Amino acid sequence: MPETTLTRLTDHVYWMSPGAPDRPSLCAVVGTNDTLMLDAAASSAHARLFLDALKAENVPAPRLAALTHWHWDHIFGADELDIPIIAHALTADQIAIQAAYKWTDEALDQRVREGAEIAFCADNIKIELPEPRSIKIIAPQIIFHDKLDIHLGGVSVHMQHVGGDHAHDACVMHILPDRVLFLGDCLYDALYTPVRHYTKSRLFPLIDTILSFDANYYIEGHTPTVMSRTELVALTDKMRLAGNLVDELAGDVEAVKEAVQTRTGSPPDEDTLSFIEGLAAGYKLQNRG
Ligand SMILES: [Zn+2]
Repeated sequence: MPETTLTRLTDHVYWMSPGAPDRPSLCAVVGTNDTLMLDAAASSAHARLFLDALKAENVPAPRLAALTHWHWDHIFGADELDIPIIAHALTADQIAIQAAYKWTDEALDQRVREGAEIAFCADNIKIELPEPRSIKIIAPQIIFHDKLDIHLGGVSVHMQHVGGDHAHDACVMHILPDRVLFLGDCLYDALYTPVRHYTKSRLFPLIDTILSFDANYYIEGHTPTVMSRTELVALTDKMRLAGNLVDELAGDVEAVKEAVQTRTGSPPDEDTLSFIEGLAAGYKLQNRG
């Protein structure tokens, strides 16, 4: 993962790229009246890094923050921000569950053993926030269902619940007139599960929804580059090809790889391979027994 940097992406949007260990993309949407932060950072240190970088660019500090989904790396910095947090009702429900947990190494390890936490997240929490850690989880103050529009002065942010495999509460933020779509992690696979996977029945409608927004800058939670529409379409076409072939060939990964070679004239690239594996795992989960 390259070093985290703050970039002015468009007239109203500043983007801080993702970083180690599992820090996601953050954005500031800067209007004439208000600045809105997108996602609330992985820790106080991550939030502080973002606020300081904005200050260095003379950007007015965020007065509100909006969440894409409940995962720790998108919400643990909220305490440092000390501003109202906006979230979908499902996100707020999950945050309330997290807020009741203890966050010591012992408690984390226990939850991993019980299946309430996954090792990937526990390991990264331990790196991002070494013991003794104090985590104060902030309950969102502004809750919406389905959709919400936020007018910041000369720029607006449309939040919409999209769901998907990664997190059932996942929302995207569409920023106009800048034509930016902040995706959070919604296009990634399901990871709070014994086997990481995608399901075609969730992924395909999600792709249609995402492509329905008029945008040309697509920001993902943990992808260190911003995609153009052409790049997003290429990526989602790989997902669709993998999903259709996995269905046709009943989840047989080797047969799907061969079919990709036959259809496209070259073996599946790294992205396509990961989609084939994720969709085949989902196919098996849905069709077992
Ligand atoms: Zn996530």
